[in-house]
Amino acid sequence: MSTSDPLAALLPAEHRSLYIGGEWREAEDGRRFDVLDPADGSVLASVPDASPGEAADALDAAADAQAAWAATPPRERSDVLRRAFDLITAHTDELALLMSLEMGKPVAEAKGEVAYGADFFRWFSEEAVRIHGTWMEAPAGGTRILTVRKPVGPCYFVTPWNFPLAMGTRKIGPALAAGCTVVVKPAEQTPLTMLALAAILEEAGVPAGVVNVVTTTDAAGVSDALMTDDRLRKISFTGSTAVGRVLVKQSADQLLRVSMELGGNAPFLVFEDADLDAAVEGAMLAKMRNMGEACTSANRFLVHADVAEEFSRRLAERMGALTVGRGQDDGTDVGPLIDEDALDSVGQLVTDAVHDGARVVTGGERVDGQGWFYRPTVLVDVPPESEINTQEIFGPVAPVTTFSDEDEAVARANATEYGLASYVFTRDLARSVRMVERLDYGMVGLNTGLVSNAAAPFGGVKASGFGREGGFEGIEEYLETTYAALKV
Ligand code: NAD
Repeated sequence: MSTSDPLAALLPAEHRSLYIGGEWREAEDGRRFDVLDPADGSVLASVPDASPGEAADALDAAADAQAAWAATPPRERSDVLRRAFDLITAHTDELALLMSLEMGKPVAEAKGEVAYGADFFRWFSEEAVRIHGTWMEAPAGGTRILTVRKPVGPCYFVTPWNFPLAMGTRKIGPALAAGCTVVVKPAEQTPLTMLALAAILEEAGVPAGVVNVVTTTDAAGVSDALMTDDRLRKISFTGSTAVGRVLVKQSADQLLRVSMELGGNAPFLVFEDADLDAAVEGAMLAKMRNMGEACTSANRFLVHADVAEEFSRRLAERMGALTVGRGQDDGTDVGPLIDEDALDSVGQLVTDAVHDGARVVTGGERVDGQGWFYRPTVLVDVPPESEINTQEIFGPVAPVTTFSDEDEAVARANATEYGLASYVFTRDLARSVRMVERLDYGMVGLNTGLVSNAAAPFGGVKASGFGREGGFEGIEEYLETTYAALKV
């Protein structure tokens, strides 16, 4: 590739390929698809457009590598993951720039994702050597009950575009630690970061076939080929609830183990006794991380009527002062949305909310010119039933509604099919405890706008899915239990 290739230093041309069985290769029919820069719609690079046949090749490789990887001593698996952590950390700048280019997020935020994503490899390198069984005497005596843990076997991972690195490492880390091999299908909008990760895993010493990456525009066809093959044992999916439902149904035929990290509709509760400085700070983090394109993104601001005006004013001041621009430009706080559809959907939700009676305090429009930019927006007087309160916004828009007591706040917060992240700002300890117990969510941020942590069990309830990623729970998703009855 000539030096005019701006991506050459970030992802060499030979790695813009399928990664199957330790080899970098093209799709058999030579088909490729373009990866676009969401800041201006220009073509950044192209990658192979794999067919179901290539997906089957990837599963062949994963299945062939399964037994040897499962038999690799835990310390060796751990060392590989730790080397991968070190390499990702060493390549933070390149990975962050690549991610920013294909996804749009500001480079500084992308560096945060690199640190977060790498941490799953560090955490699970530590967990790989702590997988253990049990030994107990049967209650009636005589027999001993032994349990051993085994890897579930070859896994299939489908990841979204919003966190191109971390949504992969969060699955690959525990799978490799447990002794599973994997086939990864990254989102078609952001395949480059996953290919860069595959190259790092290769360098870290992951044996051929243990990790395979298949880039494609035929997500359904590739998934179908893998999920109807009885060698596959697990699917882990991060993405929308609609696609999650399809995959859960498909998983029934082979009775696959299933993990689902789906959509959210996070409530952000501010009580009358909250520290408003902390609440505004937390709101900026919970709303604006990733331009609002996060499953954990604060979707509905429920604020006690006594403090709603001040909170909204201060939030609008902060939101209005943010700089919108290319993720790679110095000083950019807010990058473009992922594509035209995303921009249209956010714009429509705001238009409908205004039609329902909401008032725009700041923002409320797209940025003129090329690219898919939307201004950070605060809406007040938003009716609870307005669609913007019931749907995932996935953009930089904060709708504020008020409540008058705790029961009303809890009822409104829980009045959604989703149950991923929630946020509560209060200085009352007893109320904090009540909130953790009463909110129907997998995660509660108490006086903080950030819940993600490799050492914590990330995941949701209800239509936000099931299974946990990270924490002590994360590796359980990749382990089976065999019990032996021992007569003595
Ligand atoms: P999406 O569901 O459209 O796509 C996610 C992935 O599924 C992509 O790789 C896509 O190619 C693939 N896909 C699409 N149709 C498929 C099919 N029929 N069969 C198999 N795979 C298919 O979601 P998206 O727009 O990329 O991501 C945004 C969504 O992801 C939001 O709803 C967000 O909340 C959710 N998300 C959840 C978490 C979490 O941890 N809970 C994290 C990040 C994003």
